[in-house]
Amino acid sequence: MTTTRAPYIIPWAGEITLPEPLMITPGGVFYVDPRVDQRHRDDDDVLWEACGGQQTGPRIYALLHPARQREAMRNLLCATCGGPASRNADGMLWLMPLLAGPPAEGTTWEGVQTTIPPSCEPCADRVTAGCPWLRDGHVRLRARVAEQIGVRGTRYSRTGQPSLAEDDDALVLYDSPDARYVVARHAVRELGWVAVEAVVTAATTPSGAACPYAGVALADGVSA
Ligand SMILES: [Zn+2]
Repeated sequence: MTTTRAPYIIPWAGEITLPEPLMITPGGVFYVDPRVDQRHRDDDDVLWEACGGQQTGPRIYALLHPARQREAMRNLLCATCGGPASRNADGMLWLMPLLAGPPAEGTTWEGVQTTIPPSCEPCADRVTAGCPWLRDGHVRLRARVAEQIGVRGTRYSRTGQPSLAEDDDALVLYDSPDARYVVARHAVRELGWVAVEAVVTAATTPSGAACPYAGVALADGVSA
């Protein structure tokens, strides 16, 4: 047991990605050991990073632990405590960092894609001041729809070329041909029927920075 209060999805320094050998074939990317391969495929047959190591050392806030992030996203667990996320009549609670400044005028957050799992009410009220992702500004959203659309991870070439990674942080959708050529690190959900509850900006938030979500398009045809 640990008494550390860092969020559930934040890895310890001792938790590492295991260097399991990979092979790239015309059928996709595989772990060379078929037993390892089988253990690291999700319900959509996407391959995931092999996590190992131990929960020792400091917490690494810049990263999300692949297995716990995936579990929290799949089961809609709170990113901080791992308990059930909160819902009300307006939908599930999500906290999003503003990252590069306050959102541009008129940003609705509809259709925003996120690797950060939802939140429960008690955690949302207490974590934002201490969390490096959220303390410089965040938005508190309710979303009625949060479809699992794909993963972020290392995408390999589909051309049959040697196993050079094309992109080590690619967004790959489940219905893409690239889904067989990615080693996933994080699950991605897309939020729909979004209602903004609050935008919280810190006094130190830089002004004039481009909002990373300014280009978020309104999603058409979202069904409940
Ligand atoms: Zn919580």
